[in-house]
Amino acid sequence: MIQSFHSPSTPAEAVGLIRENPKARYLAGGTELNSMASPVQPDAVVSLNGLGLDKLTLSSEGIEIGAMVTLETLLKSAEKGEASELLAQACSNVGNRNIRNMATVGGNIAACKSCSDLIPPLLVLGARVETMTCDGNIVTIDLEDFLAGPRTDLILRIIVPAPAGSFHAGLCRYTRTANDLALVSVCAGLEMEGTRCIGATIALGGVAAKPLRVREIENAVIDRDMADNIDSICSLADQKIMESIIPITDHRGGADYKMTLARNLLREALIHAALKGGVSR
Ligand SMILES: Cc1cc2nc3c(=O)[nH]c(=O)nc-3n(C[C@H](O)[C@H](O)[C@H](O)COP(=O)(O)OP(=O)(O)OC[C@H]3O[C@@H](n4cnc5c(N)ncnc54)[C@H](O)[C@@H]3O)c2cc1C
Repeated sequence: MIQSFHSPSTPAEAVGLIRENPKARYLAGGTELNSMASPVQPDAVVSLNGLGLDKLTLSSEGIEIGAMVTLETLLKSAEKGEASELLAQACSNVGNRNIRNMATVGGNIAACKSCSDLIPPLLVLGARVETMTCDGNIVTIDLEDFLAGPRTDLILRIIVPAPAGSFHAGLCRYTRTANDLALVSVCAGLEMEGTRCIGATIALGGVAAKPLRVREIENAVIDRDMADNIDSICSLADQKIMESIIPITDHRGGADYKMTLARNLLREALIHAALKGGVSR
């Protein structure tokens, strides 16, 4: 049970409070933290509400998302453009409006759930995370590296670079009910030169302990002319997904079922991205 609640007014103060009490946790929207049962729930929390981390900036350079920006704000602020539209689609997939009104982008990343709806698109967009370390230094690292680490630093901002004009993404997920967390999700981003794929980033959720990029699949797609035969390129990707992931079994589904879902969703996401890029079938 939460017994002490701290309300710092600067990131440095928040980090200092955690340094003094390493068992305390940052509290953002609380959708994750408040649903923890004792004894897992921390007994001290440090609220991030008063730190001014709720700014969202969309520009031609990209999108800067304060850690405390809610998923509903990100969804409602969407502008025309592949990155903004992709993030809005990801946010719209999350639970329901009540959850999205509270859940924050920083909290979604820090919680790093296997089935996070936001992390795969952010990985595909090459997002970077600005954090304040426990000794008060500000560092910016790739989201992928942040996820690989202990994720104990305070997230300040998420920086999404503007993708190239020829970048197109497909995001597909499967869930039992609209309100439920995704069993599996796949996000595919393709950079096209005409009908040729010159760059690919592919990230999956729900198949491992945390969302992950699968470079083996990316390499199978890069440097191929999608107009040649999109179905045979999807078959190559399908071969790679079977070789490179071992889905986890959890209460949402068994490994075999998740593999079948992942294969189908990968094909769907690739075709979706390629069609947006002007490839015809
Ligand atoms: C009913 C329900 C449905 C849900 N559906 C979905 C869904 O469909 N898709 C999905 O992706 N998620 C879903 N979630 C999960 C959850 O909403 C998200 O993970 C949410 O974005 C967490 O953000 P928060 O602000 O509520 O985090 P909190 O609960 O406040 O914190 C979560 C964790 O992150 C840490 N943290 C928070 N902010 C920071 C920060 N800035 N820096 C460092 N650490 C930080 C906290 O210490 C805590 O450990 C659902 C949750 C619920 C309860």
